[in-house]
Order: sequence, then structure tokens, then C-alpha cells
Amino acid sequence: MTEPLTEKLQHLRTEAKHALDKAADQDSLEPWRVKYLGRKGQLARLIKDISQLDAPARKSAGQLANTIKQELTQAFTARAAVFRDHHSAPATALSGASLPPASSVGHLHPITLSIRRIQHIFARMGFIVAEGPLVEDPAYNFDLLNIPLHHPARAETDTFHTASGSVLRTHTSPVQLRAVLAMNLTPPFSVISPGRVFRSESTDASHEHTFHQLEAFMVGERVTVADFKGVVKKYFSDFFEQNVTTRLRPSYFPFVEPGFEVDMSCIICQQAGCSVCGRTGWLEMMGAGMVHPNVLKNMNIDHTRWQGFAFGGGIDRLAMLRHHIDDVRLFMSGRLDFLNQFS
Ligand SMILES: [Zn+2]
Repeated sequence: MTEPLTEKLQHLRTEAKHALDKAADQDSLEPWRVKYLGRKGQLARLIKDISQLDAPARKSAGQLANTIKQELTQAFTARAAVFRDHHSAPATALSGASLPPASSVGHLHPITLSIRRIQHIFARMGFIVAEGPLVEDPAYNFDLLNIPLHHPARAETDTFHTASGSVLRTHTSPVQLRAVLAMNLTPPFSVISPGRVFRSESTDASHEHTFHQLEAFMVGERVTVADFKGVVKKYFSDFFEQNVTTRLRPSYFPFVEPGFEVDMSCIICQQAGCSVCGRTGWLEMMGAGMVHPNVLKNMNIDHTRWQGFAFGGGIDRLAMLRHHIDDVRLFMSGRLDFLNQFS
């Protein structure tokens, strides 16, 4: 009895694959699935018969049935992916019997791709990558970064607090402290820390409660604003694959002194003026500055000998500019029609 059943299984395998190859469009896939792989389908019926075999035959037939089930399921998934990706391209395009089934391979999220791109750029400049926790001690997120209790960023409205008194980190700057205090780095050093951050605010096309930042800091005996300008110009020029210029405007952040806002020449209009740059020719990119002596002290670094710069900027914004994306919420939306464009 074994022989006929394994033969039936083999026959089913051939017939089902042939029928799948001939499927002309998305609509013909579901009837195929029901017919061969459905709960009352042909394969299920043969599997039911396996239970009547004697033990050794049952084992080998069972294994064969499992293999066939896996093969057909994979082939079905691959076929569905072809129709989805090519919007009903002619079925003959991939119908060659000798072609292996195209598997539905995943791909990286556009933010992950951007982070890898950034890491590559900074690695070539000698930076190392550090990571820190997403749920952070307020001391690291605020106090040790020279952000006093009365600072508006500490208000309930801007920060997600946990019941136990921790916060969801509002920036990647705490990693500065963690890198030095936990990884025992001693100057000189150059570190970047890309990662996810959180703000308790309402969302719109350019604001999201969950987004990504790049923190970078370099400390040495003679690190100056000129080093900073060189690093940032290289960063943006390599990321956008075009030569950009930057400008600094004085600004205030508690953890740097002096502090500045960094603008980049508009990569869309080359400074001719467009809607993206608000006709100014400049794009606001990030906040930065020379690390505040108090922050160096909090890292147990002698601020009379060592100095350095730090900056923190959005990664989502970089990806949006690079790929001409006009709504930051798309990144976390889980929408495959958006995400599949980056495969
Ligand atoms: Zn522009």
C-alpha cells in the first residue's frame, strides 16, 4: 500500500507545481491554495490516508508529505510575491520549469539603511559606535547633561515617564555619559551613537513621538569648532552624495558652551530657493556645540586639559531629504507599499 500512496504524493507535487506555474494572476492563487493546500484539499486527504499505513511506511510517507507541503507553501508565497511586486506581470515571465522558486526575501527598513550608511561614513573618520538603553535614568537623560530640574524639556508634556521613575530617553546624548562611565573610555575619543528616541508630543507630517537621532562627540586636547565643521561637512556631503556647505548660528543648549544650530545648503534646489527650504536656500539640520565643562566634569574628564564637540541630529529627517519623503509618520506606519520601495 506504501507504493501507491508515495506515488500519489509525488504525482500531486508535480501537478500542483505545474498548476501554480500556469497561474495567470493573483486571483487564481486562492483557488489553487484551497485545492492543494486547503484543510480539505488534496494533500490533506492523502495525509489522512498515511495513518492507515504500517509504522515504517507511515514514517517515510509522512516525511515526504511534510516536504511536499513545505515546498508547495514556499512556491505559493513566492508566486504571490511575484504578482504583488510586478502587478500582474505575465505569468510566463517566470514559468520556466527549471527555475528555482523565487523566495520572498525581506529587506531592511529605510531608517536602518540610513543608520548603516551613517555608521560607515563615521567609521572612516575613526569614530566608534556606542549604544545605550531606551529606558533611561533621568540622571543620565537630564541632570548629568547639565539640564536642570526647571528646564522645559523635563516637563511631563515632553517626556514619557515610567511608573518607576525612569524616562524614555528624549535624545541620544545620555550615551555620551554611558560611553565614558560604563565603557571606561578615556580621551581622546570619537564616538557616535545612533538610536531611537521618544517625545511626548502630538504627531504631524514632520513630528513623530518615536524617531531616531544621531549623537556624535569627539574629545581631545585640541579639538575645536573647526574640527566640528570639517566632520559635519564630510558627514552631510557623503550622506547626500553631493558637496554641501554648512553654516553655524548661535544657539543655546544646556549641555554645550558655546552652542549652535547647524544649517546645510539646500540639497534640493542648490540654494536657488524651494518649498523644502522655505525659499531660504538653507535647511536646519541639528543642534551642536562644544561640550559643556560641567558635562566633562560629570564624566570625570579634566576639563582644563580636554575639550570637544558634540552634536545631535535627526536621522529620519536625513532619510526624508535623501528619499524625498514628505511625511515622517510613514517610517513607523508599517505600510508595506511605502517600505517595499526600499528593497
Ligand atoms: Zn531649497
